[in-house]
Amino acid sequence: PAVDAESHTDVLIVGAGPSGLMAAYWMARYGIRARIVDKRPTKVFTGHADGLRMRTLELFDSMGIQHRVDHEAQSAVDVNFWVPGEKGQLMRQGPITPGQAHHSPFHHMLLSQARIEDFILDSIREHSDIEVERGVIAESFHYDETPGEDPNAYPITVQLRRILDDPQEKGQGSQASHSTKPSGFDQSNVPPEDHNNLAEQNQKAHVPNETVRAKYIIGCDGAHSWTRGQLNIPFEGESTEHVWGVIDTIPITDFPDIRRLCTVTSPHGTILVIPREKQLVRLYVPVQIMDEENGRFDRSKITPEAIKARVQAILAPYKFDYQILDWWTAYQIGRRIAPSFSRWNRAFIAGDAVHTHSPKVGLGMNMSMQDGFNIGWKVALVVSGAADPCILQTYHEERHRLAELLLEFDKLWAGMFTQENKPAARGAQGKTESMMQVVEQFQDFADGIKAFYGESPLVCKQSGGVNLTTCNLIPGERVPPVKLRMQAEGNNVWTTRLFESNGQFKLVVLAGDVREVAQKQRLETLSAFLSRSEPPNSSLLTRYSSIRGRSKSLVDVLTVHSAPWPDTEFFHFPEALRPLDPVFGWSYGKIWCDDSCSWDRDCDGRAYEKWGVDRKRGAVFIVRPDQYIGWVGEFEDIEKATKYFDGFLKTSKGE
Ligand code: FAD
Repeated sequence: PAVDAESHTDVLIVGAGPSGLMAAYWMARYGIRARIVDKRPTKVFTGHADGLRMRTLELFDSMGIQHRVDHEAQSAVDVNFWVPGEKGQLMRQGPITPGQAHHSPFHHMLLSQARIEDFILDSIREHSDIEVERGVIAESFHYDETPGEDPNAYPITVQLRRILDDPQEKGQGSQASHSTKPSGFDQSNVPPEDHNNLAEQNQKAHVPNETVRAKYIIGCDGAHSWTRGQLNIPFEGESTEHVWGVIDTIPITDFPDIRRLCTVTSPHGTILVIPREKQLVRLYVPVQIMDEENGRFDRSKITPEAIKARVQAILAPYKFDYQILDWWTAYQIGRRIAPSFSRWNRAFIAGDAVHTHSPKVGLGMNMSMQDGFNIGWKVALVVSGAADPCILQTYHEERHRLAELLLEFDKLWAGMFTQENKPAARGAQGKTESMMQVVEQFQDFADGIKAFYGESPLVCKQSGGVNLTTCNLIPGERVPPVKLRMQAEGNNVWTTRLFESNGQFKLVVLAGDVREVAQKQRLETLSAFLSRSEPPNSSLLTRYSSIRGRSKSLVDVLTVHSAPWPDTEFFHFPEALRPLDPVFGWSYGKIWCDDSCSWDRDCDGRAYEKWGVDRKRGAVFIVRPDQYIGWVGEFEDIEKATKYFDGFLKTSKGE
């Protein structure tokens, strides 16, 4: 029998869904002593979320996993709306292509949550030996308030129990989910790595129960969050009357748009059709099956057959059937939000644990991953001793407003599907227009193009001399992605990739037109400031504590000039901007050029214009580890950049 053990960890992450894995990614990148536990005995293999928004994909690029999504996922950019025409027959409206105004290398894609989790897990393994401990449930929590902010204290005590059964798969709360395994198909749809994962998990049976003491806890444990309960944080909102069925099938149908993203509205309801990888199609279907006696939602009456029958009715006269059903679920929409995302600046909750809504907006996983991404690096940086705990407060401040927006969006969007019984009320055209209006109203938010992060130690809105009304580098927002050429090689890359999520802050020097003598002189002066060694700790490149075994400096400098690529040389730039490493030679990857490439139209030499920065004079800006802008200024404002960092980073040798 297992014996209780006691252990210490710096960070305990409860829940290894999308948000927990993103938080764990940062623990891996910063080399933090962290554990991540999940009560499910295995990872997710089928079903669950599948929609990936632009911003999530940009973050994936910065993590080095986007190419894997690209390889496997299905694109979903155009949307069609099917509505009854004048004679009641189904008619296509569209296609409509939302979101094209935004410049992003990526667009909406669809892929099973199982694969997305695989990619993040692989990245965690690449950078650390952190492994998800599955079949481990967190139970009983105690917080000792005495140590306050003492960085060496372990004020959190959690009891971990090994379980071999998974209550979730039996259908907890208002959701039931089912992986169906018709012969032959499960083998082909679950990738080989996942077969290995399953086998590995089954072998690790006897881990003892354990009492874990932690400095920080991040609860990423889903809508029924245990952590949220332990922190006494309420979950405000309500369940709605609307009940939905979801089926992932390979349909056999003559409906022409079955392989296109579309909605279909008929007097029997509105369904959402989502084409997926490997010829799968996901359908969201209204299934309002109430118990006649008590008038309440009766989940037991919702079966794949009932969902199929409703699809057949809505799609008629088109035929609809399937042989292969990969996964299905039924859920009742609940719209809830936690008023606070943290307690004591030591315990944090993220993802579905702090916001739930209908899956139809396709945002829960995206928002959850971005929550985990937001809190993960902050906790890691504080635990590593490099940053002041004041940055942890920004997690709630930055993410809570977005969760509110998520619920507002969901209310409007889900409402479009629940008025299905009166599709003719405003006419077919009216219905399509209303849907498009909602999509457009929330587009920036939903795609993650706008973050609305406010003033904080990590976001300095009052930047230096740069005119923020014309500059598109806005503190608190993402860096608008552009393609740049590496000076030494001439090769090109998106900034989403260039600004790698490796834990460093990037000080980006937009060097301007370095062919001009006066500008070159300004650059020299800036470089001299960045490389000065007297007084000690005065260069912001070496001033702050580094993280042992990771990067040499917490602040990395990258230069992007605007002169034509052939007109200048890597070695023309001051050495401080392209330092020599005794082992790896010159830092070729630090000098970049905003010039066009004949072979790539995305690399158009207009980065400065897109960023709203003067091509001759340039500017300087700071990108946080999570790819949001922290500060913008002129070369001459560089002391203010130091002040920005001094607001939360600890200087070397504890000074
Ligand atoms: P979860 O994924 O719920 O993970 C929580 C984890 O915590 C679970 O693995 C659970 O086992 C574990 N856990 C819970 N309690 C404990 C405990 N006490 N101890 C240890 N472990 C514990 N989102 C999108 O963005 N796009 C979509 O297209 C989309 N489609 C969806 C379709 C459906 C049918 C559903 C149901 C959801 C969809 N979502 C979508 C939403 C998305 O799945 C969730 O928002 C997302 O999974 C939330 O991630 P999370 O990590 O916060 O929580």
